[in-house]
Amino acid sequence: MSVPTITLNSGHDIPQLGFGVFKVPPAEAETAVAAALEAGYRHIDTAAIYGNEEGVGAAIHKSGIPRDELFITTKLWNDRQAGEAPKIAIAESLERLGLDYVDLYLTHWPAPANGHYVNAWQKMVEIRDAGLARSIGVSNHLVEHLDRIVEETGVVPAVNQIELHPAYQQRELTEWAAEYGSHIESWGPLGQGKYDLFGERAVSEAAKTHGKTPAQVVIRWHLDKGFIVFPKSVRPERMIENFDVFDFSLTDAEVAEIDALDPLDGSGRVGAHPLELN
Ligand code: NAD
Repeated sequence: MSVPTITLNSGHDIPQLGFGVFKVPPAEAETAVAAALEAGYRHIDTAAIYGNEEGVGAAIHKSGIPRDELFITTKLWNDRQAGEAPKIAIAESLERLGLDYVDLYLTHWPAPANGHYVNAWQKMVEIRDAGLARSIGVSNHLVEHLDRIVEETGVVPAVNQIELHPAYQQRELTEWAAEYGSHIESWGPLGQGKYDLFGERAVSEAAKTHGKTPAQVVIRWHLDKGFIVFPKSVRPERMIENFDVFDFSLTDAEVAEIDALDPLDGSGRVGAHPLELN
């Protein structure tokens, strides 16, 4: 079965399952992305700060896959938010990727202590209007940041890419997205391997029932919740495993059991806090 798509507020479709390349070393990115494309992925999530845009670009060019069958996301790093810097940054990312446009461009963190995230969002709008990004969105934005950029520009981000996995479900932000017609992209969808997610009974029991792996159950949970997701692995067998999630679905009861894994006190977060990273 082919990967389902979600129509963003730009009118463009995004494949709901993709491949993320955070912490894929630059020298390995080309090989990893080539393997992911071979496994069937058409949506790649990178960022300027990952230092591997060249490798992503090389793999997509060598694959021969038509550009319009690919969905490529990259992100603006925090030190490029001020003044006209976002426009220079997108030009540099496109150069490294060897592309004329990206499908989705995101501001990576609000970095509120720097005080430039509203400017960055205004420049993202101009970047979109110039045709350099088909859709624009944000990452790691809290409700206060989202409300502020919408108030200042009237433009709703197509997505908010946030840490989201069963122990940290970010319900305030998923509700904001639903209310504004935005979408959630889950980063760290497998909890980055930082807690024993696969050992949770709700996950391991569903895996046994469906004859799938715990990782496949968690990816399926993200898809069933309507999130866009791009698990990362440099191991081709895991890329294939993570893509093989379209021949089963979880029951409402199984989804509810996984929903109940969030302690709801924020203690499930494994990554940085958006108010602290600048
Ligand atoms: P993830 O939850 O996808 O975890 C990746 C780790 O899970 C891998 O290193 C591997 O050890 C393990 N894994 C993967 N597949 C597995 C399988 N089938 N079985 C067992 N273990 C498996 O975490 P991530 O890479 O941080 O998140 C995914 C993507 O999200 C990133 O690659 C990146 O594109 C994006 N991301 C964005 C931000 C942001 O600030 N916007 C931050 C982190 C990640």
